Amino acid sequence: MLKWLGSLTDSNEKELKRLQPIIDEINSLEPEFQKLSDAELRAKTDEFKARLKNGETLDDILPEAFAACREASRRAIGERHFDVQLMGGIVLHQGKIAEMKTGEGKTLVATLPLYLNALTGEGCHLVTVNDYLARRDAYWMGPIYHALGLTVASIYPQQNPDEHLPARLYDPDYTDEKDTRWPHFRPISRQQAYRADITYGTNNEFGFDFLRDNMAIDLSQYVQRPLNYAIVDEVDNILIDEARTPLIISGSAEEATDKYNVFARLVPQLKKDEDYSIEEKERQTYLTESGMTKMEKWLRRDGLLKAPSLYDPANYTLTQYLENALKANVLFKRDRDYVVKDGQVIIVDEFTGRLMLGRRYSEGLHQAIEAKERVKIQRESVTLATITFQNYFRLYKKLAGMTGTAATEAEEFHKIYKLEVVIIPTNKPMVRIDNPDQIYKDEETKFKAVAKEIEAFHQQGKPILVGTVSIEKSELLSDQLKRKGIPHQVLNAKNHEKEAAIIAQAGRTGAVTVATNMAGRGVDIILGGKRPEEPKREDFPDEQEWQKEHQKWQKESREWPEEHNKVIELGGLHVIGTERHEARRIDNQLRGRSGRQGDPGSSRFYVSLEDDVVRRFGGDRVKGFMDWAGFDENTPIEHSMVSKAIENAQVKVEGYHFDVRKHLVDYDDVVNKHREVIYDERRKILEGADLKANILSMVREEIEKLVAARCSRDLMESDYTGLIEELATIFSLPPQINPATLSQMKPDQITEKLIEYAEQLYEQREKDVGSENMRLMERLVMLRALDSLWKDHLTEMDHLRQQASLYAMRQIEPIVVYKKEGHALFESLTAGIQHNVVHTIYKVSLTRKEAPPQRQPQKAAVPAGKKVGRNDPCPCGSGKKYKHCCGR
Ligand code: ADP
Ligand code: MG
Repeated sequence: MLKWLGSLTDSNEKELKRLQPIIDEINSLEPEFQKLSDAELRAKTDEFKARLKNGETLDDILPEAFAACREASRRAIGERHFDVQLMGGIVLHQGKIAEMKTGEGKTLVATLPLYLNALTGEGCHLVTVNDYLARRDAYWMGPIYHALGLTVASIYPQQNPDEHLPARLYDPDYTDEKDTRWPHFRPISRQQAYRADITYGTNNEFGFDFLRDNMAIDLSQYVQRPLNYAIVDEVDNILIDEARTPLIISGSAEEATDKYNVFARLVPQLKKDEDYSIEEKERQTYLTESGMTKMEKWLRRDGLLKAPSLYDPANYTLTQYLENALKANVLFKRDRDYVVKDGQVIIVDEFTGRLMLGRRYSEGLHQAIEAKERVKIQRESVTLATITFQNYFRLYKKLAGMTGTAATEAEEFHKIYKLEVVIIPTNKPMVRIDNPDQIYKDEETKFKAVAKEIEAFHQQGKPILVGTVSIEKSELLSDQLKRKGIPHQVLNAKNHEKEAAIIAQAGRTGAVTVATNMAGRGVDIILGGKRPEEPKREDFPDEQEWQKEHQKWQKESREWPEEHNKVIELGGLHVIGTERHEARRIDNQLRGRSGRQGDPGSSRFYVSLEDDVVRRFGGDRVKGFMDWAGFDENTPIEHSMVSKAIENAQVKVEGYHFDVRKHLVDYDDVVNKHREVIYDERRKILEGADLKANILSMVREEIEKLVAARCSRDLMESDYTGLIEELATIFSLPPQINPATLSQMKPDQITEKLIEYAEQLYEQREKDVGSENMRLMERLVMLRALDSLWKDHLTEMDHLRQQASLYAMRQIEPIVVYKKEGHALFESLTAGIQHNVVHTIYKVSLTRKEAPPQRQPQKAAVPAGKKVGRNDPCPCGSGKKYKHCCGR
């Protein structure tokens, strides 16, 4: 592993060296671009586009495009890309991950490759971790794109199910008086947002839009264009942490939920170790023989047991409930793994501490937790569409990412996404002092020491950022600080925007900020707090008010450098980690908040032998060492050997989590192949593919199959009556096709005759209903068959997965079973679709229902034979021109 990282740094040097000539070229173009007028700068975009059409490649025009973007940024928002930012930009354009530390200005870096890649007109996406950032960044960078004549949009989340999917376009000519934060965001449709040159949005919104598109029944409802180029911000957070739960669109199924309550009542009566054991490493729990016997007794008493033994397949569903109830009770802790809010169980992201609203644990576990917490059990849901982030992001023609912490996960990025990591040097040298870990025997002494250190630094006025691993621990520490009378802020990642404002001020003298994980926050901490923003003249129509506001700003601006320098003198921001996280990356995220852009700073982690990661993965070695060193309860030790042991433990956990995610991908890859085929078929149907030929060949195949099953040469006796009966479920047969006539023919002749009849009948129907209607029926029949059977297929694959896991007990790899059986299920899915289509196409007919009364004014009927000109007054009498009214 270490050797591997070593080779990573070597190749990194080479990679950076290769970029230097390009950076030099961009720099040499700068004077020329500075001389351009605003209009000339904007005209560059058209020039680049034209050159691309004439055969130049994106790489050919990269230096000029980057120079144009840098100049536009300098003029529009007053920030000129640093050379290292140009480097980052090239790496992103190359479809790799740029590791750039917090505060290096990744938001600005992304403008370069986004501008360049948008020139092809195929659309570029920037993926953010939350909605607030999707707005902030699109709006913040908006002026740059606008100066270059490109459009940029932001995808908003849907607030309620009836709402039209919202989105905004950055447009300085538009002003929303009511919106003081983002006044120049014009509301637009989702489709328009995806037609913009550049689109900002969260991973969830992009993924859900993709799934929704593939459920649409008309091409005009599709909002996305083919997925071209995406840059994922905080890429480790999205592609690694979030990637553990797939996106699911589900509908609710009818199913009894009382069983969850039964098990939630029974399971707490089991005793640890006696009735069940816990496997800490794998976070698994198993019933012992004694536990099994007890459960059987209780279930028999309640009349739920279908066979004497719980192992009996007849009790398969019961064991499912049992497993989930056991997990819910002994492995899942309230306020660590989930919170209960407004009668709902909400998952807490283990890595970021964020609440994952709307996400649910799958396969009944969520319901089991709901039963345990005695809140309303949401109905089981059926999956209508699902995809993992891994497979969604692999759909892009080109994918890139940026983050402060990627190197430790380089292997995973490479293996799963084929993404290479390039470490970009910081703009200014890093001077933060990282102190060695302090290790305590137990958690209580550790937290006491943390509180003491906060107190000491706080008295000096040094700003402090404290990271905890859970909401629970944050509150624990907060109580201690309250008792000491230290004012502080606690962040639980509940309100992104409000917390962003708090983080922005976390660098002021005396500020103490306690946060559950800083991963993916996207806001940097400036020493001395945020620089005061100059008020805009046009925002203050009242002269007096303007004067007051402006003077206030002048005063604050004078004071800011003093405050800034004071914090620098104090040694900058001090970061305290109260526990080593399971992944080193998350620790680095926390540390990286200090020492940005060459700022002074310091950090230290506090560890106890009771911490999860130490206990689960490295406990014995660390403990052995400590016993050997013979230290007492209250004195912490600082020793590189212990720090090493803990780091090794982290590497082990990282590996374990990687395996879990790899596992998820291995399983999803099986379904993914199916999804690709089905989505592709769907799209072809919607795009108006020739379905007639397709359906007729299905009919032929179906007939061949039927004949072969009933009257093939291998059979002793042909069953003509049975054949006729089966055929009758497809179409009605003429009297001359009957058992007696068929018995006179050879099987081949029968098939030929039947096919000929089926084709004739098809043509006849087409004549009767008209070709256009026939095409419409073909489309509807195919779509319906595809969608309903695909949905069932997803559910079956889910079940298969659960069944496959049982094979592990027989020493058979579940994934092997899953792949093999999954393939069989897919074959039966395609056979099912054919069967369904063939058995429906001859029976459907179109009946036009009366149009329901509309609320909107009815479009005026245009008298037959009379044409209304587009500029004529509308015949509906509205007084508007026809093209602006009913003729739209
Ligand atoms: P990151 O996402 O890398 O943590 P941000 O994009 O949030 O960093 O930027 C951090 C800060 O640095 C912002 O306040 C931004 O305005 C500033 N910044 C970035 N690049 C430049 C630049 N080239 N010149 C001046 N300020 C910059
Ligand atoms: Mg950022």
